[in-house]
Amino acid sequence: VYSCSLLAVGDELLDGRVNDTNSEFITEKLEPLGIAVALRIIVGDDNERIGNALSMALMVSEIVIITGGLGPTEDDLTREAVADALGLTLSRDGELEENLKGFFAAMGRQMSPTNLKQADLIEGAEPLTARLGTAPGQWIEHEGKMIAIVPGVPREMRDMIENDVIPRISERLSPGEAGGAVTLLVAAKPESEVAESIQKALAGIDGIKVSYRAMVGQIEVRLTSHAAGAELAEAEKRAKESLGPWVVAEGDETLEGNLGRELRSRGLTLAVAESCTGGMVGERITRAPGSSEYFRGGVIAYNYDAKERLLGVGRVRLEEMGAVNEEVAKEMAVGVRQRFSADLGVSLTGVAGPESGGEDEPVGTVAFGIADENNAFAWKYRLPGDRQMIRQFATTVLLAIVYFYVRGEEVGNVR
Ligand code: ATP
Ligand code: MG
Repeated sequence: VYSCSLLAVGDELLDGRVNDTNSEFITEKLEPLGIAVALRIIVGDDNERIGNALSMALMVSEIVIITGGLGPTEDDLTREAVADALGLTLSRDGELEENLKGFFAAMGRQMSPTNLKQADLIEGAEPLTARLGTAPGQWIEHEGKMIAIVPGVPREMRDMIENDVIPRISERLSPGEAGGAVTLLVAAKPESEVAESIQKALAGIDGIKVSYRAMVGQIEVRLTSHAAGAELAEAEKRAKESLGPWVVAEGDETLEGNLGRELRSRGLTLAVAESCTGGMVGERITRAPGSSEYFRGGVIAYNYDAKERLLGVGRVRLEEMGAVNEEVAKEMAVGVRQRFSADLGVSLTGVAGPESGGEDEPVGTVAFGIADENNAFAWKYRLPGDRQMIRQFATTVLLAIVYFYVRGEEVGNVR
């Protein structure tokens, strides 16, 4: 079983001006390989301290990934510090020098001599191409350990980690040592119930770590195995069975992306009428590239007039029952479906708080509607949280309802 240490280099990280988000990103990317992070160190721009931090990291892990300090300026010391700490030489690499000159020429910019230090390569290191900036990374295999050095600039770091570092680590894991991770996204189900199902489902399977990340209406469930074996596949199978349709996405997928895929494959179009979410549903749907194929558009019908005039909700009904009930949600869904000539009209109307806005319903009450050619259905739920949470929660619940509906799953008991 491999473990990895992360070294983030930079004074700005130490004094708190910048958060070490690089290490968070790398941790996420290592997880699917079943590689746990053993140690994270933040160290300032100081040769000796970088060296000490590297020595410490090498004591506890087989892999060390260092970000930052690859720039052209005086305070960018990572290359020198790593070479010194490992007792290796640092020398100018002709090809890297040419690349660097080419980069500046292509940009029509003058290269200052200090930039040339970015062409310095540690003895035995493999350079990692800088596709997005000027600082190449370095991949070093030294005394049985793997050491990667990548730029601190998050965009450059992400590119190099995903395309150069992770594949190299992955290649070097022998099958017996590689673990793995599975991520399931569960929507519209309380965390306690999700945890309970998973716990029951995984009883008797050893070596699987389960972690949860609650994201307002969605919960990411991650199953991690740090050793190889059939357990992870079995755990995944059982977890999915126990959660059934509530699993709305896996791995990197999203609820809105999967909803889009289902709509597209069935040739269905969608229109949205939303009230308390003020456009958030439309925003979520259109995050998915290609959503124009199935998303017709939407209406933000916030007050009674808008609900009446734009969607044809009965005025009397609004005056008598208020805007937050199943009947109004159905009328909104039917109205928006018609007006956009869509196959499906969906809606939500609720009280996001902190005030009731003149409605009788308690804060957090949201009614959801869906209408197809023949029928209209509606549900009313009480969602937890403050104003912003209720709005996010409602957005996710509506997307989940539509997703269940489109897949022909029973839409009941959504929360
Ligand atoms: P270059 O100098 O070529 O831009 P570099 O490797 O020297 O690259 P740094 O100078 O250390 O990178 O950092 C560049 C930018 O990236 C800075 O804005 C810094 O705040 C940010 N950065 C550096 N390290 C991290 C980190 N661990 N997490 C988030 N941001 C970081
Ligand atoms: Mg720096």
